[in-house]
Amino acid sequence: MQLSYIARNTRASVIRAMFNEALKIEDRVSFTVGEPDFTTPKPIIDEAVDAWRRGLTHYTPNRGIPELCDAISTFHADNLKPDPNEQVLCTCGAMEALQLALITLVDPGDEVVLVTPAWSNYFGHIAMVGGVCKEIWAKEENEFVPMLDDFKQVITEKTKLIILNSPSNPTGAVFDEDTLRGVAELAVEHDLFVISDEIYSKIIYDGRRCPSITEFPGIAERTVYISGFSKMFAMTGWRLGYAISTPEIISAMTKLHENSASCLPEPTQLAAVRALESCWDEVEMMRQSYERRRDLICKLLNDIEGISVRVPKGAFYAFVNIKSAGMNSVDFCMDLLKKTGVVTVPGTGFGDAGEGYMRLTYATSDENIIEGMKRLKQYMQAR
Ligand code: PLP
Repeated sequence: MQLSYIARNTRASVIRAMFNEALKIEDRVSFTVGEPDFTTPKPIIDEAVDAWRRGLTHYTPNRGIPELCDAISTFHADNLKPDPNEQVLCTCGAMEALQLALITLVDPGDEVVLVTPAWSNYFGHIAMVGGVCKEIWAKEENEFVPMLDDFKQVITEKTKLIILNSPSNPTGAVFDEDTLRGVAELAVEHDLFVISDEIYSKIIYDGRRCPSITEFPGIAERTVYISGFSKMFAMTGWRLGYAISTPEIISAMTKLHENSASCLPEPTQLAAVRALESCWDEVEMMRQSYERRRDLICKLLNDIEGISVRVPKGAFYAFVNIKSAGMNSVDFCMDLLKKTGVVTVPGTGFGDAGEGYMRLTYATSDENIIEGMKRLKQYMQAR
């Protein structure tokens, strides 16, 4: 007896592996799991608690309650302008939206273009539908923004889909308009679908705007836009995400959602409405705090001889160059963990393009950042 091909070929995330390894060490300083260190803003929690107490404990419409679809549609009134009745699907985290989008768009054997280093779960999502992952390596010297020529090289007649993630986990890169316009033109020319995961679009720094591929002509009708409440409103544990696309794609994704998560709890959906309606000051406060901590960690990192980091433009990750240490990234991160208790994620957890790097999440306290960087400096000096 043997488990299915897909079960055998889907990788578990390296981030979780490091997290579990770190649990064995008591005196640790962790920079692993990518989630806000803030508790969800109080008005959001109050809204949900009140709804639970009112006994809103039943099944809800598969696509999401109308109030939430409306609120998401209003939130995107300036760009995607989705019809709340046909073009929005609320999901169990952006994670489920991504998985449903891939099942909807990809057949086994289809090629999926992925810009790497990439969030490790994309590899699992592609494997789970039997897709063939075609990586484009975004290089540090180009600020981890992919080159258009690399897309041209990798597209074949088997290519079905391009996955984009800007601002990027793990590199913090924000793709510029020219790159996105070029990718949009290629998608139209080669009749490809696009998944644009913009879950970090509100976590962006230095007064920048976060351009979206959906702004370019001919692209909305072939794109699944993915986002969610986890990062924006510090709601990772609530499991609330959403997809916006054409009525045809959303209807297919809804059918799949009905057969998996089915629907989301009403109190959490009402809480998400509350978030979109009245918690933007809190979002801005959190963003400013990440920006300040980004500056702190980058300064401390760049003060350490033998490693360097480019200042990320969005999200809350520093992708640190450790090439001069002369070890592969898994060995480096494991050795660092064992000798200092500093927990990081090896760059290769985000694809082979991540060799020579490690990822640090700076959505953690100033004390953690200062202590962790002190230990990292001592480790580098002792080498
Ligand atoms: N997309 C990216 C790029 C992420 O980094 C994450 C979580 O780390 C997700 C999606 C999943 O988010 P959610 O918590 O909404 O499932």
